[in-house]
Amino acid sequence: MMINAPKLLWKTERKKDIFEICDLRIKTAGPQNCKTNELLKWLATKMQLNGKNNKKSLLRFTTAGSVDDGKSTLIGRLLYDSKSIFEDQMEHIVQSGKRLGREELDLSLLTDGLRAEREQGITIDVAYRYFATPARKFIIADTPGHIQYTRNMVTGASTVDLAVILVDARKGVLEQTVRHTYIATLLDIRHVIFCINKMDMVNFSEEVFLNIRTDIEKLAGKLQIEDTHYIPVSAKYGDNVVTHSENMKWYNGKTFLSLIETIEIRKHKNTVNARFPVQTIIRPNTSEYHDYRAYAGRVAGGSFKPGDAVTVLPSMLKSKIKGISVFGKSLAEAHTGDSVSISLEDQIDISRGNMLASPDELPVMSQDITLMVCWFNEKPLKVGGRYLIRMNTNEAGCIIRAVNYRMNINTLEQDFENISINMNDIANITIRASKPVFFDPYKKNNITGSMIFIDEGTNETMAAGMVTG
Ligand code: GDP
Repeated sequence: MMINAPKLLWKTERKKDIFEICDLRIKTAGPQNCKTNELLKWLATKMQLNGKNNKKSLLRFTTAGSVDDGKSTLIGRLLYDSKSIFEDQMEHIVQSGKRLGREELDLSLLTDGLRAEREQGITIDVAYRYFATPARKFIIADTPGHIQYTRNMVTGASTVDLAVILVDARKGVLEQTVRHTYIATLLDIRHVIFCINKMDMVNFSEEVFLNIRTDIEKLAGKLQIEDTHYIPVSAKYGDNVVTHSENMKWYNGKTFLSLIETIEIRKHKNTVNARFPVQTIIRPNTSEYHDYRAYAGRVAGGSFKPGDAVTVLPSMLKSKIKGISVFGKSLAEAHTGDSVSISLEDQIDISRGNMLASPDELPVMSQDITLMVCWFNEKPLKVGGRYLIRMNTNEAGCIIRAVNYRMNINTLEQDFENISINMNDIANITIRASKPVFFDPYKKNNITGSMIFIDEGTNETMAAGMVTG
């Protein structure tokens, strides 16, 4: 049978795997003549279904660092050297590079090219790139800027296990490094890899690397990050990204790929305390299903199964789960991250924004909330100002009652004096919501413990917040 897939740049040791995937494509009549992105997504699903790859763990990570530190180049290099780029994507990079007058291969164009596609709405809100090696599957949260980076992670759209923070070897630790590291801890990301990039521009000097490493270790110690790693790399030339560097023989740690393939992630998030924010009410309105009512949404914590007792918030009414289904198929259990519809034994008035929770461990229900916020708007925070808060599927108005302190990013100390909050500031604030809302401390559940602040007039996102306590 003909394969219409783009030809793959698959050269040596991983050839066997890709043939298996192509074989799968023939056997299962996968999408033909599709866009590369669709094919990649399709391959990712197939690889999950493929028995041999079933046991592969999934690692979600994101990249951070100042503009131009080499985030796009690092990811481009990773995909290129691990032979995960399709030929048409490669052609796109070469052509874009020529158009831009670049003499050398610029791998950042791969990431940027995909971004452009996304901005045109081709892959809509898919801000994730999938790729897999024989050892592990990866989802890279592609976050173009600082704002997106924080917003994506904070709103719980992704549960990132690991942050990769790039540091320019010529510049060392900058305010942005400290900020991003602090945000990673604020978001409870417990594994951080610091890539000291552009080592080629400092003559691959071990001394430069060690000095930067010492500075970051101090920072990581202050922030009590559980698990930190340091790799000297040159994303542009590929040193220590997928293959060991010939130029830095003094480094005998793992390459970036080898580290992300083997790093052990302890799952600690959202595993207990069943939470189900209701997104939509399903009422078929047919005579056959006259009284049928189900609630669709995504499980935000713990698990649910038929027969489980639940409390509905905010009404506090109690019921039991009658059934759980997905696309009309009954499920014995639904876990965190599963999108399902749930029906209850009793007819209760439930609307979007309500939450089903386990009665043993209810979320906090209150109008007063204390939280850490990252402010991302040019307009400064106004004490007494009114904003809309969006927490999962729930919305409420709120007024900012007080700024308790501002984090001084340089000293990592709480500043109680200078508490005017501007763009990029991180602060601890107290708000009062217009109605009782329900939430968990962020450390317990990063989905039900986070919210975003919206300016109702302009619809702009002003900040992201993580509930403390
Ligand atoms: P981003 O803004 O963090 O995504 O940075 P880019 O990946 O777009 O890289 C910014 C610039 O730095 C580009 O011109 C890259 O070619 C260059 N660059 C990235 N990594 C390296 C490196 O390791 N060495 C050198 N010399 N240049 C690099």
